[in-house]
Amino acid sequence: MRTLSKLFLVGALGVFLAVQWNAPTFDPESLRGARVFVTGASTGIGEQTAYHYARLGAQLVITARREHVLHRVSERCQVLGAQQARYLVLDMAEPQDAERAVGLAADLLGGLDVVVLNHIGSSPFSMWDGDIQHLRWLMQVNFLSYVQMAKAALPLLEPSGGSLVVVSSLLAKMSSPFVAPYSSTKFALNGFFGTLQQELAMKNSNVSISIATLGLIDTDNAMEKVRDMVTIPAYPASEAALALLRVGASRQAETYYPQYLHLLALVRDWAPSVRDWVMRSSYNYTP
Ligand code: NAP
Repeated sequence: MRTLSKLFLVGALGVFLAVQWNAPTFDPESLRGARVFVTGASTGIGEQTAYHYARLGAQLVITARREHVLHRVSERCQVLGAQQARYLVLDMAEPQDAERAVGLAADLLGGLDVVVLNHIGSSPFSMWDGDIQHLRWLMQVNFLSYVQMAKAALPLLEPSGGSLVVVSSLLAKMSSPFVAPYSSTKFALNGFFGTLQQELAMKNSNVSISIATLGLIDTDNAMEKVRDMVTIPAYPASEAALALLRVGASRQAETYYPQYLHLLALVRDWAPSVRDWVMRSSYNYTP
């Protein structure tokens, strides 16, 4: 049994190293003038993503709810080199806002090349308290609005051979305490967009869908929630944002940031009790 386990670990490590060795590259010039729409771009990873596209000379539309913050971020995008940077004030908890978001962005940009679906609604970091109302609301913000936007984006991305980047989480692959509603929305995203990836491939579509699996990232909102509760390191938002830009531009089906998460995902079903112990040990908790 031990030999089998070791063989499996070595195999997983081999797959992991092979994937890293063949890590895709892209030409940064390909994003000059690209028409890019980023959601949840007023703060955190979305904001940093907008800045990376801006540095490469893209044309940007960003969206979130707070106008004054979006205004500041779009001005910074212009300073960094965006060919244009506009914003839309929309609330993804409102199905009609999610319905029209992509069309409005495409009208401002004259088409679309890249859509980054990144926003999330705020959710408590605590044990499940039975709040179904919150789960319904979060499903709309974190999942259904993504589906609504994908529906609108796919026909617009087809003629441009564009890419759709879906920001997900390790918590879409592994269950963890304190995040039942959030984790449910991310599992739903992976299920839905994983299916779409297969269907687009079967239809020889020109559109690429990339799913980004992120670990703990040091955004203000995430850190405020978990600071005293986690025992694992948080990684820089700017690097996470770069991983989003790279995976979209190289049209890969998935990426992991930090990269070692890929190894965790490879071994997750091999030793479930160890996996669950590792997840629980990532938190400080005294009953
Ligand atoms: P964040 O800092 O909390 O930013 C969330 C963004 O979504 C903000 O721009 C916010 O702006 C917007 N937003 C919130 N509610 C909205 C609503 N109802 N309608 C429209 N926009 C709304 O989040 P983050 O930490 O950067 O996370 C970004 C992505 O990375 C998410 O998909 C998250 O699941 C993923 N991720 C993050 C971590 C992490 O540790 N940070 C780990 C794994 C995955 P307004 O408030 O102005 O609307």
